[in-house]
Amino acid sequence: MNKIIAIFLIILLNFAFLSAASLDERSKNISKHEMQSIIEFLSHDLLEGRTPGTRGGTLAEIYMTSLFKWMDLKPGFNGQYLQPLHLKGFTIDKLNLDTNGIQLANIDHIIGTWVGPEKDFSMEAEAVFVGFGITTHLWDWNDFKNVDVKDKFIIARVNDPGLFNEKIFEGKALTYFGRWRYHIEEAVRRGAAGILLIHTTETAGYGWQTVLNSWSGEEVFLQSDINNNLKFRGWIQENSLKKLLEAKKIDLAQLYEKSLKKSFKPIPLGFKIKVSGTCTSRDLVANNVIAEIPGKSPKKIVLSAHIDHLGMLDNKEGDNIINGAIDNASAVAAMMLTARLLKESQDHLYYTVVILACHAEEAGMLGSKHYVQTLPDRQNVIANINFESTPVWGKTSDFMAVGGEYSTLEDILKKVLETQGLTYSYFSMTDQGFYFRSDQYPFAQYNIPAVWISAGENDDSGEKKYSTFWKTKYHTVKDEYDPTWPLESLEQTVRITALLIDMMNKTQAVPQWKRKLTFPLEIR
Ligand SMILES: [Zn+2]
Repeated sequence: MNKIIAIFLIILLNFAFLSAASLDERSKNISKHEMQSIIEFLSHDLLEGRTPGTRGGTLAEIYMTSLFKWMDLKPGFNGQYLQPLHLKGFTIDKLNLDTNGIQLANIDHIIGTWVGPEKDFSMEAEAVFVGFGITTHLWDWNDFKNVDVKDKFIIARVNDPGLFNEKIFEGKALTYFGRWRYHIEEAVRRGAAGILLIHTTETAGYGWQTVLNSWSGEEVFLQSDINNNLKFRGWIQENSLKKLLEAKKIDLAQLYEKSLKKSFKPIPLGFKIKVSGTCTSRDLVANNVIAEIPGKSPKKIVLSAHIDHLGMLDNKEGDNIINGAIDNASAVAAMMLTARLLKESQDHLYYTVVILACHAEEAGMLGSKHYVQTLPDRQNVIANINFESTPVWGKTSDFMAVGGEYSTLEDILKKVLETQGLTYSYFSMTDQGFYFRSDQYPFAQYNIPAVWISAGENDDSGEKKYSTFWKTKYHTVKDEYDPTWPLESLEQTVRITALLIDMMNKTQAVPQWKRKLTFPLEIR
């Protein structure tokens, strides 16, 4: 009997070995045409930049549903592929800011969103400078010192004080508390009526044009994020703010200096800010598209990539479509090809693998946030592996997991990389807080170890094409499909991710956090 069990075990082990070998083999033969087909379709002009609730955004959903069916994947949301997101969209048609006898009325100075049903809006409130507007026990920092800013118009710096002092926060590495989203969330918690974020290229990490591309046109929200007092949220160029302050003989440099001290307290500026203009709002529905590859365990690994992008610029002549070929069609291709490799090895899957094609990421990771917030069996999700703007150039010698340092996912990945002769690297742009800027973040916030996985920056051209993309094409009309891309780094991303999941399956690894988290956890 023991002998029979032993033989049976040997056969089983052989099967495991064979399947691993074949996954390994198959991952070396990913067809370039297949990778191209997904990028080419999703970034086509006819998809018009894929914003939620538009024709192009809906076509992207239909396409994903169709791919899931083609691959015979199981529907992943209550027996369906589509998980609806009920959203509210606001478009400002005209915006004026009046203060101290100065009127700022165009996008060279300010941009923002009015979040309310009024078609003609007008709001005036006392201006208060709140420094960075950060409250956290993690570095024992509280910019508000219990000063009430309810119904005020707060003016906040973006980034965190670590940018200017290596010894506080995480130094130059941006924490979640330095993200503009955090500043807005804090304004909501404090009951402010309006917020103006001060734009400088240094503190934002990108130029004014990137702000304009992200903020012009419709701003979209989950209903649950707008049931609050904050009606206006926007950005002001630093030079324009300086002019407003000079009229009151206030020196911005001095305000900045105070904001770097732990003793900082909100500073009422002694004037009011008035915003007015016209706005349209609408209800819209977009859908996450979700499939599942059931494994032996109900425990899940969620693979994710967003299908939406930024749509079209309406104030620009010539090419005005922000196609999002790299952000994020290439990443969707990486996710789908990884899913296919795993589907082909389904018999050997221990963990169930969820394929989450999420919508409305560009609007604030709304699809992934809603998915995680409403997931009935969230405790079953052991990890999220997100694909974002996957590199499309030649082979790289390195590989990275943005946010890997927070969890043991990094250690598992390093083992896989060793077997493939690749080095592990950190993204050179960590000072821009990328971990908090894509769909891995809502998972991390809900206590699920999560990474954004990608081939690294050292591609074989020696030109660091990936870093160049972020500086020159990201969120612009130039993020377009190019049929001459070699896609070798995309293939590497697929291969390493498949091997990572294979290793997690074989070892039944459950990733754990391993260091101080630099973001707040949602406790629910
Ligand atoms: Zn993206």
